[in-house]
Amino acid sequence: MNLLNINSRSATGNRVKSAHNQGELVAIFSICALVAMQPIAAIAASNDSATHPAPRLILQITVDALRGDLPGRFAHVLGEGGFRYLQQGVNYTNAHYQHATTETIVGHVSLATGTVPAAHGMVGNVWFDRAEGRLMYNIEDADYHLLSADSDIDRATEIDPTQKAAKVDGRSPRAILSSTFSDELAAHYGGKSKIFGVSVKDRGAVSLAGHAGKAFWFSKANGEFITSNYYYDAYPQWVLDWNAARLAQVYADTSWELTHKPSNYMFGDADDRDYETDFPGFGRTFPHPYGAGDDKYFTTRLTLSPAGDELTLDFAKTLLDAEQLGQDEVPDYLAVSFSSTDYVGHLFGPSSLESEDNIARLDRSLADLFAHVDKRVGLENTLIVLSADHGQPEVPGYLHSLGIQSAGYFNPKELDKAPAIAVLKQRFGLGEELIENFFQPYLYLNRELIQSKGLDQAEVERVFAEELEKFPGVVKAVSSIALRSAALPDTELMRKILNNFHPRRSGDIYLVLEPYVYINDFDGLIVASTHGAPWRYDSFVPVMFAGAGLQPATLSRAITPYDIAPTLANYLGVKQPSAAIGKPLVEVLGN
Ligand SMILES: [Zn+2]
Repeated sequence: MNLLNINSRSATGNRVKSAHNQGELVAIFSICALVAMQPIAAIAASNDSATHPAPRLILQITVDALRGDLPGRFAHVLGEGGFRYLQQGVNYTNAHYQHATTETIVGHVSLATGTVPAAHGMVGNVWFDRAEGRLMYNIEDADYHLLSADSDIDRATEIDPTQKAAKVDGRSPRAILSSTFSDELAAHYGGKSKIFGVSVKDRGAVSLAGHAGKAFWFSKANGEFITSNYYYDAYPQWVLDWNAARLAQVYADTSWELTHKPSNYMFGDADDRDYETDFPGFGRTFPHPYGAGDDKYFTTRLTLSPAGDELTLDFAKTLLDAEQLGQDEVPDYLAVSFSSTDYVGHLFGPSSLESEDNIARLDRSLADLFAHVDKRVGLENTLIVLSADHGQPEVPGYLHSLGIQSAGYFNPKELDKAPAIAVLKQRFGLGEELIENFFQPYLYLNRELIQSKGLDQAEVERVFAEELEKFPGVVKAVSSIALRSAALPDTELMRKILNNFHPRRSGDIYLVLEPYVYINDFDGLIVASTHGAPWRYDSFVPVMFAGAGLQPATLSRAITPYDIAPTLANYLGVKQPSAAIGKPLVEVLGN
């Protein structure tokens, strides 16, 4: 009877409590018949299960690598209508992920599904597929192809080592193992909700669009926003028109320049630091030139600067208009993931003039987006939520300049060397060939080899983990068999590693480096900082809700980003994503 009651409530505005006799049952079925005859718009409009009308648009913004403190830290370079508008909503200042591998796909899918990688399956940007015997990029899919022939990654110029792991050009959300909020929205409204994800990064768009929505992302190969035939058989005309306008070329032969005068910035007198990355043709100091429009790194440089966000913004605004989002009573969903903050952080670190100006420019892009949404849909009809997929660590060189000496880089090639391997050789008669693969943070052992020698996998893992913990910079090496058998102490760190564990995708040993120690080799490109750790700087993100008449509140209560998807679901009276563990946030729900 529950289902009938819910249907009746949403259709009529009358709460049908229970049916004790046949007469009441007849009444309920009559109401259900009424539901079937009503247009879907009427169903959406009469949602009285909450204290607010259903919004016409859910705008979910993800800022890649926006550590929770950064908007407040750089408040002096912000203008009106961007972060300041969000700060007038419901702000959570103490939100942390509870999984260990704080990487892009892991965070984005956690935001989308309201759960941890142990349930949604995205344990890292890349994992080793034992059946295929190779590394897999998280959203690659051999059954699909990109719609544009010239848009696949260019291996000669691609700087993202995770994308390079992909063997095929096809992309889809099929590796995401639980439902997303956007999937539930699609299911609730009979497919009538329009659902889109947009980002420079393919994984930033595919994740939040879910299985039921549509995703577009930026191709550095051809400078266009693209998609795969998982989503479309052919591009909509408005996408062809946007791409034909060649907007990226507007940046040719220009530079990323400071928004304000140097004295307005915290890091205005600290532009040139030798620990920053000197990317070819881009340099370590302002202005950072984009180069000629046909330069092989031109589009890459756009993504390493606020220009990548500006292109994403323009595409998202065009999408909102062309697809007429928020124009009827059925709520639509637009997810925009801004990637520049992540790339700028990798190159220059969060405590740099580049990061400070990037936040100032991101703030202008947000203000532009909110003004556009206000004009087309009305902010009072739009529920906005902004968060991030992970935080950001400080650059060791920056910490050293403050007298903090413990920070540094870790060279994973050291793992192949003695004495750990020597011990294993001595103990089991096996050496380097034991390591089948290493992709941060997981070590994958050669299970067939272990078995063929008649050795016990658990014992090999235990001894290897014990030896790895003797390496300087390694704080913990956790065996997966020990993790499965719960033979480990119940600490926060262990719970985070367990939350990250999926039996078919996780490796045999989880390697945790000390705080502020990380691998900075991006497949040959040496960067200044790398996130991905379980530590607080990488797990800390903002969670800001605004629009839809929300009353201002700032809360320091500890919450998690997994709370976002269940909150959106409850706000709309939609069932929660299938594996959600987050708790709906009462300040947003208003009751
Ligand atoms: Zn990221």
